[in-house]
Amino acid sequence: MSKFQDLGLEEQFLQAISDLGFETPSEVQEKTIPILLEQETDIVSLAQTGTGKTAAFGFPMLQKIQADSRTTQGLILSPTRELCLQITEELKLYGKYVSGLNIVAIYGGASITDQARKIKKGAQIIVATPGRMKDMIGRGMIDISKIEYCVLDEADEMLNMGFYEDITEILSHSPKDKSTWLFSATMPKEVASIAKKFMHEPIEITVGTKNVGSKNVSHEYYLVNARDRYQTLKRLADTNPEIFSVVFCRTKRDTQKVAELLIEDGYSAGALHGDLSQNQRDLVMKSFRTRQIQMLVATDVAARGIDVEDITHVINYQLPDEIETYTHRSGRTGRAGKTGVSMVIVSKSEHRKIKAIEKIIQKEFVKKDVPSGMEICGIQLFHLANKVKDTDVNHEIDAYLPQINKIMADFSKEDLIKKFFSVEFTRFYNYYKRAKDLNVDASHGSDKEYSKNSVRYFVNVGRKDDLEWMDLKDLIRELTKLGKDDVFHVDTMDSFSFFNTDEKHSQLVLDAVSGIEVNGRKVDIEISKDRGRKGGRGKKGGDRGGRRKGGKDRKFEKRGRKSEGKSDSKFQGRSRRRSSAPPASKGTGGRRRRRG
Ligand code: AMP
Repeated sequence: MSKFQDLGLEEQFLQAISDLGFETPSEVQEKTIPILLEQETDIVSLAQTGTGKTAAFGFPMLQKIQADSRTTQGLILSPTRELCLQITEELKLYGKYVSGLNIVAIYGGASITDQARKIKKGAQIIVATPGRMKDMIGRGMIDISKIEYCVLDEADEMLNMGFYEDITEILSHSPKDKSTWLFSATMPKEVASIAKKFMHEPIEITVGTKNVGSKNVSHEYYLVNARDRYQTLKRLADTNPEIFSVVFCRTKRDTQKVAELLIEDGYSAGALHGDLSQNQRDLVMKSFRTRQIQMLVATDVAARGIDVEDITHVINYQLPDEIETYTHRSGRTGRAGKTGVSMVIVSKSEHRKIKAIEKIIQKEFVKKDVPSGMEICGIQLFHLANKVKDTDVNHEIDAYLPQINKIMADFSKEDLIKKFFSVEFTRFYNYYKRAKDLNVDASHGSDKEYSKNSVRYFVNVGRKDDLEWMDLKDLIRELTKLGKDDVFHVDTMDSFSFFNTDEKHSQLVLDAVSGIEVNGRKVDIEISKDRGRKGGRGKKGGDRGGRRKGGKDRKFEKRGRKSEGKSDSKFQGRSRRRSSAPPASKGTGGRRRRRG
């Protein structure tokens, strides 16, 4: 293992490294820093968050730029505001002994004029999100015509978020002969094509699967019916009383809904998604960091760049659309030498994705059974027993003891223990005594026998209208108020789409959908003669992996009248910290946990 002193860094940076307490370079730093210091080259580095990649590109960039010049020489593009701020803060620490250094963060949701003012003072390095950056270049507020170094950080995520066009536009304003350093956790073909298009013979660096994240994370999955997802989530939480987790959902709507349900049920949960204001997001994150919130329910996009230590579990409430995203999710736990668990709640229709993910993470999943109600009661009881055992006696209660002893005088030690534990046990027992087995058998048919009484519909809108299959499904569900499992086999083609429902819903569906407008176009719907999907999906839908186009707001209206649109109450769900045992009993002021 090499030392920071061997990498070619100047004394002022070694001093900053020592101030930060970094002892040895991480793998990506060891492999990247010497190359970037010695050569003017493009690189592609496969490295995840948490591997120390910010320092891997940060130190070389800081050492190579001229801090006595006011010209912008380095640009770092990153997917989210959080990440952008994090990188900026890190770079400032790395460059604390460089005099005259000015690093400016550029991101949406904050005053553009303030940012422009900071740039005008002369920023040698700009750290930016693509959307705001493009906007400011377009307004002539930023000049990147003289940059020498450009970092595309978390390139796969930026592309997932639909920033391809923005990045292309931004780079078209930069010099051809700059060095481009691309960092990505995964290498889907979109990233490879960016590398091909914008880079010249890049040196490739792979930071093995050895990164801290994946080594310490075990992966489990729970096979259940899609309709039992939420009950499963609660059981997983109840099985792990000290859980401190991020729960990932696929859409903003599900994120909001799951968080609301958890809060209603007495868990300390909060929602984090793009429909919340920055202020609301900051509050949720503060509560999470300070452990007021034990379960942060988040979308992939909103959770990017969150760097919270000691997350015990990542729960995949639904699998991501792009299975590569799973690596990002599971990398939130098992950091800094700690172990972590990544749990996936899967329905049968998604079961095969597990195999595909195993290939990516190069690790096997353990199939686990959702614990039964009685198992959970036992776990909670033992957890409580251990907690009692480890509790330091608070002598403030001494004054009350004579009276308490009087009340308890007639009970033996055994009776007292039984009574004491029954207080907690009964609460869980009453909830779980009739709880069903949520596990499903992988060998039987699909979740639901769909085809017999189902009707297939044709609609004249599709991808051209910015509708991927999940958008269409969401739209139909919103218009009809049908459940998640009621709308199925949704396939979107370029200019038309299909989906199924049980035939008993057909009139409802026809009435609700007919005549609505999507992006100003009237939607025609008819029942297709073909009753179901034959031979799989349309050309891109094979793995249901069609991507939403990032950032675009699809508008739909019912005959000129705006539909209800989003009914989400945008909120920061904060509740009383959920103790590991059930909440306080009636009369103590604590809210009773409602279960079921
Ligand atoms: P990153 O992958 O850049 O997000 O870095 C993850 C965290 O590791 C950051 O908080 C860094 O400050 C920290 N870090 C980076 N390099 C090292 C190192 N060589 N030793 C210890 N911590 C580091």
